[in-house]
Amino acid sequence: MPDAATGASPPIGAMPAPRDFAALIDAQLVTVAEREVIERRSPAHGALVSRYPAATQADLRRATAAARREADRGTWRRMAGAERARIVGRVAQLIDRDKEELGRIESLEVGKPIAGVVREIGGSVALWEFAATLARRSDGDLYDQLGGSLGLVFREPVGVVGMITPWNYPLLIVSQKLPFALAVGCCAVVKPSELTSGTALRLGELLREAGLPPGVANIIVGDGPNIGRGLCESAETDMISFTGSTRVGREIGTLCGRMLKRVSLELGGKSAQIVCADADLDRAAERVAFGVTRNAGQACVSGSRLLVEAAIADRFIAAVSERLHRIRVGDPLDPATEMGPLVSEAQRRRVEGYVRAGIADGATFTARSDPGLPSAGFFVQPGVFTGVRPAMSIAQEEIFGPVLSVMPFATIDEAVALANGTAYGLSAGLWTRDMDKAFAIGRALRAGTVEINTYMAGAPELPLTGHRQSGVGHEKGAYAIEEFTNLKTLQIQLNPVRG
Ligand code: NAD
Repeated sequence: MPDAATGASPPIGAMPAPRDFAALIDAQLVTVAEREVIERRSPAHGALVSRYPAATQADLRRATAAARREADRGTWRRMAGAERARIVGRVAQLIDRDKEELGRIESLEVGKPIAGVVREIGGSVALWEFAATLARRSDGDLYDQLGGSLGLVFREPVGVVGMITPWNYPLLIVSQKLPFALAVGCCAVVKPSELTSGTALRLGELLREAGLPPGVANIIVGDGPNIGRGLCESAETDMISFTGSTRVGREIGTLCGRMLKRVSLELGGKSAQIVCADADLDRAAERVAFGVTRNAGQACVSGSRLLVEAAIADRFIAAVSERLHRIRVGDPLDPATEMGPLVSEAQRRRVEGYVRAGIADGATFTARSDPGLPSAGFFVQPGVFTGVRPAMSIAQEEIFGPVLSVMPFATIDEAVALANGTAYGLSAGLWTRDMDKAFAIGRALRAGTVEINTYMAGAPELPLTGHRQSGVGHEKGAYAIEEFTNLKTLQIQLNPVRG
């Protein structure tokens, strides 16, 4: 029986009572009882699942002032690397301990299928584990060939980092930033997306439990234009680390540019998967289908364009379509579900708008018409566009849904030109058994990451970086040390000692 108020069908898994979360400001938990409340409803069921305390401007000031105080006091920064590593590593253990709980929060708030979400939380554990190792090796250099002087180059933490993150991978993206910044001695104020803040707020409690000193990390929830922008404008933040849309990234980049504030931007993408005729086509078809439906296509690295060698195009498109049609779309709490709903009604309207635009532009759209789809919730079926021309919006713009735009190519040069033919440059997939070809194409692609014979593999050791409109700066890997530190040079004149 659908719920009379929301029209939602009852969920397969038991629906818990709505959960209240607390913000973390200067080691104090600020509860929903003390603030206006931001409510989150499950995008699959319509039921209220989470309540967050909306940060006030005073909260923002308290959080940034606490981080500033700790950065200036320097207790965290001057702590031995081994001790910082122990605390950051302890957070990894606590996330691991609570991974089922954290996974369930994201399943309810984002609509991620319960079967895969705990593995995704495991990705956050790995990031915290790896970042902990950097706390012991963010050292600088020594120069002793300068003639009469000695040069010491230090890597100093940038100071207070304001972190602004999107709704699609809530804990994972915070975990691409926060542990790395903490490892090198920075302090932070984190503002997760107001749509899906639960796991970031729960992380705040875990930070306290792990023994992070008061004020070093603060986590507050609020909207972008007020709290997010306020974080960027605050005189207390030395750097903004942003992940989100290119539109907001450009706004934040402009603002930080005016203030001469350091900024790192991880933005959108329109990633191509290039499939050559000599590839393992079964494996490629499986990963192409996976790459465009993971998180219902709501991933920055979603492989939303398929460039396929003309000789195998019909056969390969049929293989991908067959897999897409088999994907089980439904209640994210059902362990059999492979793809859940989109995050919101606005997101569904956006995806449907792109489908209409593609059809109006003359492309052909095929998707399974499935009478079994839950009637409530923001569900869509995965679909494939053929007859796509490079200039169409479905070939150029980030749809952020499970929609694949297919274009055949005849030569390697054509494949590279098509792949590079958008404003973005985040990632690409490449499928071939010929490693000479793989290197030639891989090096010619204008993308921060090129995955060869795999897709969405990733590892904490490997940097994530967007070229062109996909971003500025990089995160993850040992390169995060550069991202969150400034160089400081001490040059010491050594006078000759006689006698
Ligand atoms: P968004 O840009 O709308 O919002 C991201 C964050 O910015 C949210 O916390 C939001 O509250 C805040 N924000 C919004 N307006 C702001 C403003 N004027 N000033 C300061 N903060 C503001 O993005 P979204 O819809 O949450 O996420 C989807 C987008 O994120 C997609 O474009 C996707 O490609 C991108 N993304 C990129 C990566 C990456 O690593 N490159 C990873 C995940 C998502």
